[in-house]
Amino acid sequence: MPEQFQNYIDGAWRDAADGATFESINPARNSDVVGLFPDSKAEDVDAAARAAREAFKSWSRMPAPQRGEILRHIGDVLTERKNDLAFEMTREMGKPFFETKGDVQEAIDTAYYAASETRRLFGHTVPSELPDKFNMSLRRPVGVVGVITAWNFPVAVPTWKIFPALAAGNTVVFKPSEDAPHSGMLLVQALLDAGVPAGVLNLVQGAGAAGQAIVEHPEINAITFTGSSETGAKIGAVCGRMHKRFSMEMGGKNPMIVLDDGDLDLAVEGLLWGVFGTTGQRCTATSRLIAHEAIHDDLVDRLAEKAKALRLGYGNEDNVDVGPLINQKALDKVTRYIGIGQDEGARLVIGGERATGDGLDDGFFFEPTIFTGVTRDMRIAQEEIFGPVLSVLKVGSYDEAVAAANDTKYGLSSSIYTKNVALAFKAMHDIEAGITYVNGPTIGAEAHMPFGGVKQTGNGHREGGWEVFDFYTETKTIYVDYSGKLQKAQIDNVED
Ligand code: NAD
Repeated sequence: MPEQFQNYIDGAWRDAADGATFESINPARNSDVVGLFPDSKAEDVDAAARAAREAFKSWSRMPAPQRGEILRHIGDVLTERKNDLAFEMTREMGKPFFETKGDVQEAIDTAYYAASETRRLFGHTVPSELPDKFNMSLRRPVGVVGVITAWNFPVAVPTWKIFPALAAGNTVVFKPSEDAPHSGMLLVQALLDAGVPAGVLNLVQGAGAAGQAIVEHPEINAITFTGSSETGAKIGAVCGRMHKRFSMEMGGKNPMIVLDDGDLDLAVEGLLWGVFGTTGQRCTATSRLIAHEAIHDDLVDRLAEKAKALRLGYGNEDNVDVGPLINQKALDKVTRYIGIGQDEGARLVIGGERATGDGLDDGFFFEPTIFTGVTRDMRIAQEEIFGPVLSVLKVGSYDEAVAAANDTKYGLSSSIYTKNVALAFKAMHDIEAGITYVNGPTIGAEAHMPFGGVKQTGNGHREGGWEVFDFYTETKTIYVDYSGKLQKAQIDNVED
């Protein structure tokens, strides 16, 4: 019988009110059941929201640097548990151990960064337009924040949200993805062990219904979401109707441009990591290569040769480069897109099949895949496949490359390989994306830098960096009049 895990609500571990559970399995070894988790509904979310509302009273009043001390301790606990946590994350969501260690490290960096910002939650002081009057703004927490996340960065992405939310004095209801509930639970356990008080952080496991109940709960003031653009659209509609603050980080179709003077060795290394890291299941995965015609064939040949040599397998075993897809639905989706690409007339250079044999039969493995002859109008150039599939487009100039890069509804990450400094700087402005790398692939984020996308990838907010605190705080404007008389702002100030 698999181990059964619980929600964490109001300082206590509990089953779902109706006792329902769902299973989480190892995507590389399907017979390995990670555990059973509460399949929560509105009643469980309601208990969590009420606990978070109550805890907000004291947590929001605690001096921010004291909250920072707890965040710093969280960083220490995660550091101690890094390898154990990474092992369990790989078991549950598939990416190789060296990648999940990076996922935890990002959480550690985010903890220390958020801790440091608790001493810097700046407002402004500015001159008043009237005599003997003092103007300033200060930041107040928003209230209870609902955190709804995807499975592919099961620790880093929740911490991008939970840590700044807590630092700013908010309390949290957290629903991890139903594909990574154990990782979410282990993260919450680490936070509790580091001293987060009862009610401040509440864990509600479950699928879309639990997420929806969080979005619709009137006591939850703000929603921060990472997931697909389709789910984001549904959440945004509810938040709009309920006048809730919401932050959305969604899908991508991230281009790498390689110009005719690009360093091809560097580009191949970047592509192997950018396209096939996390089996292509990153919001920032390099899913389009836009190659100048002068280097196109050479680049594709070199890449294909190295991609064929990538070792697939269970990421907790040695020498594995690429893990499985997350579930059967993902396997079906990627397989469907191979057919779509072929029907559209693209040429399959390598891959295109479910990977089997050599210990792969009990997992959702898919061969690293490259399509050439892709044109901008094809669905495999436009839609997020979320698998180890690269669509290669051939272009004749910088301008054509940028036009192709921008020809998508998404705008998360992007990259350009060139030795031409002028074109590199032009690209920083010309490419429509929240992130542009020069001579690096489209993936990788640093805790103290803003992260997020434009167009249908996001709704204007950013994770990480100082900018994240704009979402987790309300700005309050304060006027102090010490003139001893009634001053009527503009009315007193303007001569007729
Ligand atoms: P998903 O949209 O299927 O699920 C994300 C979360 O939303 C899950 O916790 C799910 O239970 C919940 N959910 C589902 N329906 C809901 C509803 N109606 N109301 C509220 N919550 C609901 O996404 P996924 O398959 O877990 O993740 C893959 C997607 O996430 C990809 O599109 C990827 O690009 C994106 N992603 C984006 C970023 C980023 O920062 N931009 C990072 C990681 C992943």
